[in-house]
Amino acid sequence: MKKLRVGIVGCGGMGGGHAIAIASGTGYAAWNEMPELPGIDHSIDTDIGKKLELAGVYDIDHARMDWAKRHGFNLYESYEAMLQDQTIDIIVVATPNHLHHDMSIAAMRSGKHVLCEKPVTVTSAELESVIAVSKETGRVFYPRMNRRWDPDFKQVQKIYQEKLIGDVYRIESRVHGSRGIPGDWRGKKEYGGGMMLDWGVHLLDRLLMLIPERVNQVYCTITNITNKDVDDGFTMNLLFESGLTAVVEVGTCNFINLPMWYIAGTQGTCMINDWFSKGKIVQLKSWEDKDTTPIMAGAGLTKTMAPRQENSVKEIPLPKVVFDNNELYSNLADTINGEAEQIVKPEEALRVLKLIEAGLLSARLHKSVNFE
Ligand code: NAD
Repeated sequence: MKKLRVGIVGCGGMGGGHAIAIASGTGYAAWNEMPELPGIDHSIDTDIGKKLELAGVYDIDHARMDWAKRHGFNLYESYEAMLQDQTIDIIVVATPNHLHHDMSIAAMRSGKHVLCEKPVTVTSAELESVIAVSKETGRVFYPRMNRRWDPDFKQVQKIYQEKLIGDVYRIESRVHGSRGIPGDWRGKKEYGGGMMLDWGVHLLDRLLMLIPERVNQVYCTITNITNKDVDDGFTMNLLFESGLTAVVEVGTCNFINLPMWYIAGTQGTCMINDWFSKGKIVQLKSWEDKDTTPIMAGAGLTKTMAPRQENSVKEIPLPKVVFDNNELYSNLADTINGEAEQIVKPEEALRVLKLIEAGLLSARLHKSVNFE
């Protein structure tokens, strides 16, 4: 099979990373080496050098073009010139969010497939028009939801699917930082900024992938602590049709982080603190606990909140998972070649954008809104 040739538009932080990953042939590892993590086998990155090759890059910023030149990448003098290159099969759209819609449509109308950075568009209406062009032209439109491949998410999927803590009734998924929104386009509404469209897209996508249910209701609040123009954080409460509840939260003014995952099930609880697989599972061995003596807690006694005796619960490590950091690139190529089903579907990205819009509506109305 011939290698698919890739042109990258927007060669900043993310586009530059894609250029290194694809030009090296070794993919993600060339861009960003993963540290060794307990329980995570990441030794099997697919060899994308057999599937993709870099045709070149274009960025409107001369400094980024100089950077690309220093790396030996081929440069295009404009986006139009890139689209006119008949040897290019795929365009990676890695510009600020507000440009994704027009650039993706232009690429597909020029006969190219598209790998588009998240959020693939700023509104669901924009994405509907992108999907329509993808169908009309027969070109693949691939949302880059890379965080489905995060080790912590793979572990959560295993815990949920294999019922390692029984039936899950509550999930909390969050990321906390303390640096505010970066001082670039991410802080401006006209560029599609804000944390809902930035980290929110990832966390909500993962949650919807994890729980195969309809979302009935959404209640959301947003914060504008360091940025008035766009949300610099949010807390979204979701009610799934089975009654399972979830909280998804992004904070950028949090000087102590809450855990990334807190998951409660009928037979145990799981906590994952961070991206580095630090966390644990406590499983219930027996509901009965011999010692039910109340404890002194603050200014009173409690039996209900007294800690369990060790013999009724068991602590186990987070499950082992295998993951392939290049699977997204590889699946993109295989999808285009008709050899695999597309893993990240545009319709899934559409559902996430609609959920974000429901969250923003809820935040504006100060009340919960029905979703699906
Ligand atoms: P960035 O600001 O570092 O890079 C954007 C680049 O686009 C800049 O170099 C800028 O000069 C260039 N650009 C702007 N207008 C252009 C135009 N008209 N034509 C060509 N180039 C243009 O931003 P970034 O962090 O690289 O983010 C880019 C995209 O990647 C965003 O959509 C962002 O949400 C996404 N992103 C995804 C992840 C992920 O994990 N999937 C992580 C970070 C960023």
